[in-house]
Amino acid sequence: MREKLRELPSVNELLQHSKLQPAFESFNYEWVKEQVQEEIDNTRSSILAGNDVSVVDDEMIERVLENLARLSQSSLRAVINGTGTILHTNLGRALLSEPAVDAMVNVAKQYNNLEYSIEEGQRGTRYEHIESIISQLTGAESALLVNNNAAAVMLILTTFTQGKEVLISRGELVEIGGSFRIPDVITSGGAKLREVGSTNKTHIRDYQVGINEETGAIIRVHTSNYRVVGFTDKVSDQELVDLAQQHDIPVFNDLGSGLLVDLQEYGLSYEPTVEEMIQVGYDLVSFSGDKLLGGPQAGIIAGKKKYIDQLKKHPLLRALRSDKFTIAALEATLMSYFNLDKALEEIPTLKMITVTQEDLKVKADKLAELINNSKGFDATVEKGTSQIGGGSYPEEHIPTFLVSVSHEICNEAQLEYGLRLGETPIICRIKEGKIQFDVRTIKEEDFQVIVKSLEQTIQL
Ligand SMILES: *Cc1c(COP(=O)(O)O)cnc(C)c1O
Repeated sequence: MREKLRELPSVNELLQHSKLQPAFESFNYEWVKEQVQEEIDNTRSSILAGNDVSVVDDEMIERVLENLARLSQSSLRAVINGTGTILHTNLGRALLSEPAVDAMVNVAKQYNNLEYSIEEGQRGTRYEHIESIISQLTGAESALLVNNNAAAVMLILTTFTQGKEVLISRGELVEIGGSFRIPDVITSGGAKLREVGSTNKTHIRDYQVGINEETGAIIRVHTSNYRVVGFTDKVSDQELVDLAQQHDIPVFNDLGSGLLVDLQEYGLSYEPTVEEMIQVGYDLVSFSGDKLLGGPQAGIIAGKKKYIDQLKKHPLLRALRSDKFTIAALEATLMSYFNLDKALEEIPTLKMITVTQEDLKVKADKLAELINNSKGFDATVEKGTSQIGGGSYPEEHIPTFLVSVSHEICNEAQLEYGLRLGETPIICRIKEGKIQFDVRTIKEEDFQVIVKSLEQTIQL
């Protein structure tokens, strides 16, 4: 032990080692020195603990370089989504269209008129940029953009219902995830929750009975991430809006996913579109930018100008406002919707939802063939289902094609682990002794990356 301790190199010896020199191109001298010192300290502790640890300079430098490399790896990294879940909240939800990406890059590199009126040559407002396009696409009088739909709901409730009662059906007391629960949002905004009806059935008379002088608003929350089935009944949107208008009470709808086009033609079940809800007469509707709409993370509020104007005056808005990248990406995404065919082609979320079975089969066959060309692997194409995700279309499984893969030596857990920890992390499914890739959410240009990563996995 003593001999080993004596053999430990000094900080200066290691710093002058030729193999360490390239590190100085990426890191300050002090950074590297700190890592070297730490490596020596760790090695010394390890020797004292009786471990058989190498004190060879080369190997110690190797460990220092590994630590430095870890420091320069981003925490937020691109991954390959092999799960088939299109709006995977853990994997960043919607992918942006090319025009949306270009628009973000453009405002990142150039000064822009974020808060400047070009016509008037003076200060303008950031809220103007997306107002007219949302109005055109949804028929709303006015619109406002905030950070996400959770922020939209909080802003609406705080602005209009503080100190008052909010009427909501017991069937709509939703938890969205990440501890965003509608009942808590209502009370934290300073309002009192007034539940009406029951979990499975709420009638218009339940709302009627609940209305009194204290009522600040009626809110409907789209039960986007679960379904109540069986003996159920709910009040129609039109009935609810009519009731609110009779009593001169504001009525809001948290739609969750902002569906701008009807997707029933593509085999999905009916979901209300934003336009329909505006037409029905809700004073305000709110929805996410990065769910079915297929844009950046954002909360969009659309509805009557009288209400939007009040939201614009609330001090909380300053804390919830969107940045220039979101505005740029959202505007570009919305532009695609002026031509539905273009939207289905350009917006990845819509494209992945509407891709044909034939196209998916061709894609799956191609990936399976590439994997089968690698020694020891067995890949087969099977029918399966994908989910839309992001709390949209719960319980809805759309048919897809899966590539199931096994290896003659490695088991499925080893394959999954290797892919996940590879240079480009690949997230796949595991089923009955195999790993599975749903080609719906995989880009063809990533096929080679998958094959390479599989090959590296079995070498570990
Ligand atoms: C997803 C969802 C939200 C939260 O939207 P974010 O944009 O994720 O903040 C709120 N309400 C409903 C009904 C939702 O589905």
